Amino acid sequence: MVRKVVLSLSLIALASCGIVLQDMRQPTPESAPVTERSEPVGVQATVQIPVQTLVQSPAQAPAPETEIEPARSGANAVAPVSVSESPTFAAASAAPVLPAQSVSAEQHAEQQSWIDSLCTEIGNKLGSVSINDCLSQQLQFANGHSVNQRALVKKDFIPTDVGTEFPRILVIGGIHGDEYSSISIMFKWMQLLTAQADSDFYWRFLPLMNPDGLLDGTAVRQNANGVDLNRNFPTADWQDSALSAWKNSTGSNPRRFPGHGPATEPETQWLMRQIEEFNPMVIISVHAPHGLLDFDGPSEAPQKIGQLHLYRLGVYPGSLGNYGGVDLGMPVITLELPSAGIMPGSKDIQNMWTDLNKWLINNSSSLTAVDLERKKLVNR
Ligand SMILES: [Zn+2]
Repeated sequence: MVRKVVLSLSLIALASCGIVLQDMRQPTPESAPVTERSEPVGVQATVQIPVQTLVQSPAQAPAPETEIEPARSGANAVAPVSVSESPTFAAASAAPVLPAQSVSAEQHAEQQSWIDSLCTEIGNKLGSVSINDCLSQQLQFANGHSVNQRALVKKDFIPTDVGTEFPRILVIGGIHGDEYSSISIMFKWMQLLTAQADSDFYWRFLPLMNPDGLLDGTAVRQNANGVDLNRNFPTADWQDSALSAWKNSTGSNPRRFPGHGPATEPETQWLMRQIEEFNPMVIISVHAPHGLLDFDGPSEAPQKIGQLHLYRLGVYPGSLGNYGGVDLGMPVITLELPSAGIMPGSKDIQNMWTDLNKWLINNSSSLTAVDLERKKLVNR
């Protein structure tokens, strides 16, 4: 295959995760990520390829730390955020609020080996998450596999007061495999939560929905079947619009292929099960590189999270915002980090975390009301 760096190209209609974006990207040398920088909808933009390699590939020597996260000065450079005065978190395994699934010792050992392999691959691929950063989170197998049989994992942070039902917040990274920062920031926020005294919320992190997209050689947006998972959710408009929108709005761009049908992909089906089982009050989904904040569903949108300002992109057939926000009536916050290949600085990472927590706390009564209303409708 001819490998060629395309230094700039025109994007006809923009959009990453939420928007439609047509690009003509060529493979780049090694697995250096392409950072798609673009302006909000409908303008011409330039794709910039960072000069330096931002991630490690198995074939490369380990990348220096500074390559992906310039401000990083150590594994725990991000200072903890205090949003609560209460004592420490309950150990997730000791006090599950949701019924735990019983597994045999053999099954547990097998699941742990899947997680160890996944962490090894993640640590070898991402410049700002080491193998140990990943292992130390003690991720759990979340009852799902990708197309290429990688484990789909979760991490629960359960408040100490197990007698109380806490609002549940679901945080999702790596829906698109080439949006490295959306995965790395999961580990930074999990470190913050680990260091944090307690929380007013029951957090579930799904740090990497699309492991094959990240880890099968050169990282790609789609899963191993070539499907854009953020167009594969079974939204009410999928049958009527998903394939026609893909053909007409993206010129059948393979990076936006919604699949041959709704929810055809194991990763999509798994996330749907996670949403159903966890029943979150709010979903937070992280993407890159458009540098904005989008919001779907009921309730008042946050105006700003860290440096990201509200810019509504609208919904797309098969997108998570459309599925969760419109169809299921769950508020979905979509954070588009400013770069796919370069992590925000530690201050920005912390500010985003603080703003998310503040927004959740300040809006908890209206969010709870929306949540109760939704549950009533579901149970009717
Ligand atoms: Zn994305």
